[in-house]
This record gives sequence, C-alpha cells and structure tokens, in this order.
Amino acid sequence: MSNAAPTPHPHAAPFPAQERLAAGAQYINGRLRPGTSGRTHSVIDPATGDAVYTYELAGTQDVDDAVAAAKAAFPGWAGATPGERSDALHRFAAVLAERAEEFAQAESLQCGKPIKLTREFDVPGTVDNTAFFAGAARHLQGQSAGEYSGDHTSYVRREPIGVVGSIAPWNYPLQMAAWKVLPAIAAGNTIVLKPAELTPLTSLLFAEAATAAGIPDGVVNVVTGTGKEAGEHLVGHPDVAMTSFTGSTAVGKRVAEVATATVKRLHLELGGKAPFVVFDDADLEAAANGAVAGSLINTGQDCTAATRAYVQRPLYDAFVERTKQLMETVRLGDPFAPDTDLGPLISHAQRDRVAGFVERARGYARIVTGGEAPKNDGAYFQPTLIADAAQDSEVVQSEIFGPVLVVLPFDTDDEGLALANDTPYGLAASAWTRDVFRANRATREIKAGCVWVNDHIPIISEMPHGGYKASGFGKDMSAYSFEEYTQVKHVMYDNTAVAAKDWHRTIFGDR
Ligand code: NAD
Repeated sequence: MSNAAPTPHPHAAPFPAQERLAAGAQYINGRLRPGTSGRTHSVIDPATGDAVYTYELAGTQDVDDAVAAAKAAFPGWAGATPGERSDALHRFAAVLAERAEEFAQAESLQCGKPIKLTREFDVPGTVDNTAFFAGAARHLQGQSAGEYSGDHTSYVRREPIGVVGSIAPWNYPLQMAAWKVLPAIAAGNTIVLKPAELTPLTSLLFAEAATAAGIPDGVVNVVTGTGKEAGEHLVGHPDVAMTSFTGSTAVGKRVAEVATATVKRLHLELGGKAPFVVFDDADLEAAANGAVAGSLINTGQDCTAATRAYVQRPLYDAFVERTKQLMETVRLGDPFAPDTDLGPLISHAQRDRVAGFVERARGYARIVTGGEAPKNDGAYFQPTLIADAAQDSEVVQSEIFGPVLVVLPFDTDDEGLALANDTPYGLAASAWTRDVFRANRATREIKAGCVWVNDHIPIISEMPHGGYKASGFGKDMSAYSFEEYTQVKHVMYDNTAVAAKDWHRTIFGDR
C-alpha cells in the first residue's frame, strides 16, 4: 500500500518568516511583543514532532491591552469612508499575494498540510477573500429611505459594532483568521483575534501584513494564549461588543455562556459531520473520487469534510470497492514534498484520538482499508474507510476530524435523506445524482448551511458559509457576513414641524 510508511520529512526550522516573529506572539497596536502569562508554548511540527517556535503565552493583561488598542482605534477606523477602507484592503491583498510563499511554508509547517494544499488553496483563498472584502466594503447595503408613517421620513444606518473578539481553530489557521478579520474590519470594526495556541504563526503574519498595507495600528490585534485564560477573558471582556467563534460545538457552548453573561452579539461556527448522499443514478466514478477527496482534504480536519457516505443499495458494493481502491493510491508523506497528498494530523494527541475512534469501531464495524498509524515520528494516520457501522454508532454520529470516511447503504430516497439529517450537526452536505428532481429535493430537505450537487468541498468568497442546528449560526464570507458585523439603526425625522403632534392625544386627553 502506497500510504503505509511515509518518510519523516527533513524540513526544519527556521521557517522563512521566523525572524520576523522573534519579538513574540502578541500583536498589539501594530507591534509584536511577548505574552505576560509567565508560561511558554511551543509550536510543534506534526510531521516530525519537533518544536519549531516557542513563545510566551498571552495572559489577561495582554488581552486587556489588545482590547484597549482596538477600542482606541475604533473611532478613526469606523469614521473612514468605505472607499478608504477598501483601498487599505486592496493594499492588504497585494501584500498577502507578495508574501504568498512565506505564508504557505509557515502554514504547512505548523499544521503539517501538504505544501500543494497551502499553495493552491489556503493562501490563494485568503488573497481572494481579502480582495473580495476590499470590494464589498463599498457595498454595505440597507433599506431605502421612505415616508412610512406619512408624517416622518425613515432611513436605516448600517453601523459597525465596535471591538470584535474572535476565536479561531487550528485546522485552517490562515483562512480562519481571514474569515474573522476581513468582514469585521471591512465593515468598520476593530478586532482582537485569538488563534489556537497550536497554530499562531500565520495569524501573526496576517496581522503584520495588515500593518504593512497601511491598516492603522490597533485595527487588527492578535493575542496568542490558551482558550481558558486568554479566550474566556476576551469573550467576557466588557469592552468587546461581539464574539465571533469558530471551533468545536463543545467549546462553542461554553463561549456562548460567557458571551451571554455580558450580552454580546454572538456568531458561532461549530463542528460538522457532513453527509454525502449517493443516489442510484449517480456517476459512480465521480462520486468515488469526490468521496475520497472530500473526506481526506486537510487530512479530514475540515468541518465540511465528507464523513458519512450514504449510498443507494444498487451502487453500494461498487462504491465501497472503488473508494477503497482510490484511498489506497493516496500518498502520505513529507508535507513539503510536492507530490505528498496527505500530511499528518495536527498533533499526536489528535492522531491518538482518531485512532481511538477506529479501534473502538473494530468492535462493531468493518475497516475496509487503512485504520493504522504508520510507525514514524509524525502524527500520521492512514486514509480509512469503515463500513457496516450502525447509524447510531459513534463513528456515524461524532465528529472524528481525521482521514476517516464511513459508508452506509440506503434503499429509498426518503430513507437516504432522513439518514443524512440524522445527526445534531448541519454545516454542509452533498447529493450525487443526475436526476434534477432528486437533486432539487435533496437541496431542499437536507438541513445544512451548504448543499453541493455532484461535488463536495469547494467554497467561494461571494457565497456564505455557516451552519444549521448544532453547527452554529451566522455566516462567514460573502456580503451575508456583514449581517453579523454591523448593526442597523432606524433614524426617523418628523416632517410636520408641528409642536402638538397628532399622536400626543394619547397623553394630553381631549386635545
Ligand atoms: P476548539 O473548540 O477546541 O478550539 C477552538 C478555539 O477555541 C481555540 O482557539 C481554543 O484555544 C479556543 N478555546 C478553547 N476553550 C475556550 C474557552 N473556554 N473559551 C474561549 N475560547 C476557548 O476547536 P479546535 O479543536 O481548535 O478546531 C476543530 C473544531 O473546529 C472542529 O469541531 C471543527 O468542526 C470546528 N471548525 C468549524 C468551522 C466552521 O466554519 N463551522 C471551521 C473550522 C473548524
């Protein structure tokens, strides 16, 4: 099997931008500095287990300082014209594009992502997102003004909210930083972002690039600390007007509790367990290719990854066989080798967690291929296909977040769609069919924030990303994200210039 024994990769620190991050991992008011928690943390290259960057974690004082910087920067940034903010974002996109290779290398190093993924997906996606929000900054829309009462003119002002506190996960650190920062600042807010402590490098480089592009100090700040200390302090901070969180549903519930105690606006992008529904008229080869690519992208650490393939009985055996064959062609290896398809998981702890799901599944399901961690220093796990698991079993219901696809058969269309909806999650899904009526029904009935037809994974800056059900609420990307990062104010003018208004009779008796 070509994916059995990847060679440990020779790449080592320093990574290209390392010197620039030597001053510390807290980016506050346009400058890097060390954290003040008194504790350090090391970024580990998951392909080798080596520490590649050690930094002082943020304490609550760093969060306070970052929030103070964002609060001080808010009036100036909110008062800039949309055109001025747009110009700054265009320059930001240009700086990111110039530094693309630096971002790709840092992202691959800290996450173990294959370099072809960071070069072709993470980094260009981020540049495109930045360019999109540069344009969108000039198109904040509202209801038209009008005389709705006859005696008044009403209009709506769309205003930024203030300081946004954002918390991001480790699976797509650069893209998650972009998804949080860009709509927030395009709409005139300022932001304090807390990346996952495992993966701060590209969030810090992103903030630094914002400054290089001329975005004023204090508009984009990054505090790198633990969730419990820096994260909760940021969410509960009285000067933070909104919390935007991407991460697991379990942590999202805690974040919601803390944010609610200070009555904050809340945006939650949480876990997923995407179904992949293959009807019996589907193109089998397209579906099998889509299932392998859609389940293994980013080593399966993707909230929209295909995780549960439901295949209508006539195609079931052929789908299992073809998916197995294709999975066995996927090459694990050094993330920096251009021909590596699959890198390690984010950490050895995550690898062990994934292995635990698979080991337990051996007791109630069939491992069709994979199922092992190759014996080397990296946090690798083989692409794994599991069949014959019950719908209520752990591998079907829980987010594994690894290179594991579960496949189950179904008979009627009703059954397939019901099974697709039968988890607490609702982030993404796909339907595979050449029948337009089946496709249309699936897109209508599947409860998820995104439903693909005959594909699974692609995202684009112009379209919203966000969950249904326990996958959260609110939208990232697209003009829809402005609904999260702005508030609308009704302004009402009296048009009569009359001192004693008609409605005053409700107070002044018989007048
Ligand atoms: P996680 O929930 O463990 O951590 C996410 C972030 O929350 C990290 O920065 C962490 O430090 C912080 N955090 C932890 N405890 C906290 C607390 N008590 N208060 C405040 N912050 C706290 O998630 P993860 O393991 O980093 O990422 C994987 C998860 O993210 C998966 O569940 C995945 O589905 C989800 N995800 C969702 C989307 C989406 O768009 N819906 C996108 C990417 C990832």
